[in-house]
Amino acid sequence: MRTRTVTSCTLTFLLLSGAAGCAPEGADATGQGGRSSGQGGAADQPAGLDGAQSPAEAWRLEDVRFDASDGISVLVLHDMEGLSGQDDWRTFDHEMPQYARGQELLAADVNAVVEGLFAGGATEVHVVDGHGSGNPEPDVRGDLLDARARQVFRDEPFDTYFDLPETSSYDAVAVVGMHSKTGSGGFAAHTFTLGIELRINGQPITETELVALSWGRAGVPVIFGSGDDRLAADLQTMPWIEFVTVKRATSASTAEPLQVEDARAALTEGARRAVENLASARVIKVSTPIRATLRAVPPANLTMLEGVPGLDYERGADDRGAVSFTTDDLRAAYDGLTALVGVATGGYTSVLREVLRTHPAGDSLIFAYGVAVMERWLDVESDRWQPDAEPTAAVPARHHGYR
Ligand SMILES: [Zn+2]
Repeated sequence: MRTRTVTSCTLTFLLLSGAAGCAPEGADATGQGGRSSGQGGAADQPAGLDGAQSPAEAWRLEDVRFDASDGISVLVLHDMEGLSGQDDWRTFDHEMPQYARGQELLAADVNAVVEGLFAGGATEVHVVDGHGSGNPEPDVRGDLLDARARQVFRDEPFDTYFDLPETSSYDAVAVVGMHSKTGSGGFAAHTFTLGIELRINGQPITETELVALSWGRAGVPVIFGSGDDRLAADLQTMPWIEFVTVKRATSASTAEPLQVEDARAALTEGARRAVENLASARVIKVSTPIRATLRAVPPANLTMLEGVPGLDYERGADDRGAVSFTTDDLRAAYDGLTALVGVATGGYTSVLREVLRTHPAGDSLIFAYGVAVMERWLDVESDRWQPDAEPTAAVPARHHGYR
């Protein structure tokens, strides 16, 4: 999950129109997200405005080519929703007191996997944060991490999913503590951020598949994964990975974890087997041209884009709109999808509006916000306003991935 982003779209409309939010009239903010089909295929996807059809297969699989003579280097990319012993969403939210417990659970799972990777023959293990709790430090506490593993830091901000494959050389990737995709019914089920479904060539994907597609560009396989039983079902698309189910999801906010000692032993054993069987893993190569789709479910919303000429927009009965485009390049697809995520997450403000309506200070905050927007407009038109300068103090000298 990536850090929450709230924009002012809804309240701006509230101010200017007196009533409507970002969503058109009649679009309620409390609807439930639609369930995605488990195996979206190209055949049931309509052609886009440009007549583009998805390729017949979302991606193709290739054999691994790797050379173990210089050792085996493995990247561990972790999330924080699919942990052993975890059944409380507050453990993966940096703003919650339960986050400290989540950090302990995370370190224990990562260490169990690191142990297994080395036991299976890995000679180097790096760990990178794929979660984005908002913590300025990595979610894995350095003092808890297995001393043999090295955390990935860079001088510049980087995208955990897409920048590393372009600039790093690993033989394999192991993903730990992952969650199932939007609409799967899993614990904390989502893709990329709240209320978003990503489709590549018509196929709704998990973050694990997104990671595998990204590393597939560099010919590197994902060999290991862990999370709940719904993610295990999602990843039938990747039958070669050693997947360890650490809990059973009973809803998006409840789960029945396995005994943690058993789960961690299974993580170690699975990671060991994953390295031992590295040569029989598969690399995922996206099919081109790539049909990339972002579908929104509450609280995200893309319905504000409905009716824009030239935009390939669809709206199902039970969702908040979907926008598609076609490109030959996976990075371009990802960048385009993340730009659309920025639009869709503007829908989160529908929840802010609900909170303000019931808060004792809500009316005065809405009033103050309305005045501030008016003054901003008048100041900009009068050349009185300058954007805030980039903060110069407290800029982290190192970056660890998603924050
Ligand atoms: Zn995630």
